[in-house]
Amino acid sequence: MVKETGYYDVLGVKPDASDNELKKAYRKMALKFHPDKNPDGAEQFKQISQAYEVLSDEKKRQIYDQGGEEALQGGGGGGEGFHNPFDVFDMFFGGGGRGGRGERRVKPTVHNLRVTLDTLYKGVTKKLKISRTATCKGCKGLGGNEGSAKECSDCRGRGIKVRVIRMGPMVQQMQSHCDSCNGEGSTFLEKDRCKKCNGKKQVKEDEIIEVGITPGMKDGEKFVFEGKGDEVIGIEKPGDFVVVLDEVEHEKFVRKGDNLIIQHNIDLSEALCGFVRTISTLDGRTIFYRVLPGEVIAHADVKVIHNEGMPMRRASSDKGDLLVQFDVKFPDKINPDAAKKLADLLPGKREEIIDEDAEVVELTELDPQASRRNFAERDDFEGHGGFGGHGHGPQGVQCQQS
Ligand SMILES: [Zn+2]
Ligand SMILES: [Zn+2]
Repeated sequence: MVKETGYYDVLGVKPDASDNELKKAYRKMALKFHPDKNPDGAEQFKQISQAYEVLSDEKKRQIYDQGGEEALQGGGGGGEGFHNPFDVFDMFFGGGGRGGRGERRVKPTVHNLRVTLDTLYKGVTKKLKISRTATCKGCKGLGGNEGSAKECSDCRGRGIKVRVIRMGPMVQQMQSHCDSCNGEGSTFLEKDRCKKCNGKKQVKEDEIIEVGITPGMKDGEKFVFEGKGDEVIGIEKPGDFVVVLDEVEHEKFVRKGDNLIIQHNIDLSEALCGFVRTISTLDGRTIFYRVLPGEVIAHADVKVIHNEGMPMRRASSDKGDLLVQFDVKFPDKINPDAAKKLADLLPGKREEIIDEDAEVVELTELDPQASRRNFAERDDFEGHGGFGGHGHGPQGVQCQQS
């Protein structure tokens, strides 16, 4: 049992989340709240980053689980503060580790590419139009004709303006950015200014890149297009453009590694007497299976259909398995006559021996509210059986490769 769940809540995961789940949660949240994309996201972006920093570090996570935030501040985590959230983001999504220590690098541009499970099953080449900030080719990033820059008369080449404010005996100096030269200290006469970038030294450039998604690729996989990100004046190498695959939830299949899980709801009569079901596969085939009369499916049973899972990366002709998880729908009531007949037909009826002085008691419906209070110390109260009621039916399944 963990002491606090604050960091887990920020990332929207449970305290028993795996490293992978944490990574996935950070990726989704960080992309959503990055201030580049979400001007109001700064505070949340920072919180997400701090939560991830603690939880992704095994030692810090342990300290946090045991003693909460207070324990971390008490120096238990090594005492160092948090990193800049943008650095954490760049480390997480960053392109290659090129360049020596201390070399200034342009931060990568990260693009979230939403893909369906069907696409990841079949593979496809997606064309993506990207827009990048590039050095103006018209003036090679100078802003005008070489050697024609003039000292800015408004700031006398300093790039800043100084204002002196007097308030009674107090004299205060205010510095501000010079708008005339944009803080550069020099400007071009109209005739010398680059027409292509209007003296701004940089232009927006569109480019088409191709993202080759191969069958079996996974949520969160990255494509790094080296040097296809933004250029910054004064830094030699342009940034990278990074495409991150974001798997969209499928309405029928849940993916676990190379396996797929599907939930089938069956009636009690089907569970007892056999049935047939069809499945539309992700590549558009129809397959079906039979449960023959005489075979019984129990509630929460899992059966395996071999080689109908996701294609494996190394050889896409090999596939994982498709797991069918059964949810047996029991009738609310049945006719008493039918019950008698069924009792005669079904095996396993037994006679309960009742003491003479035993008292008879009532079975009533469970009130979940009241029971939750009584079971307050038991946090496993809801989660039995794998059908947790969150629309994620098959999550309780343990996937195995066979
Ligand atoms: Zn130019
Ligand atoms: Zn100026």
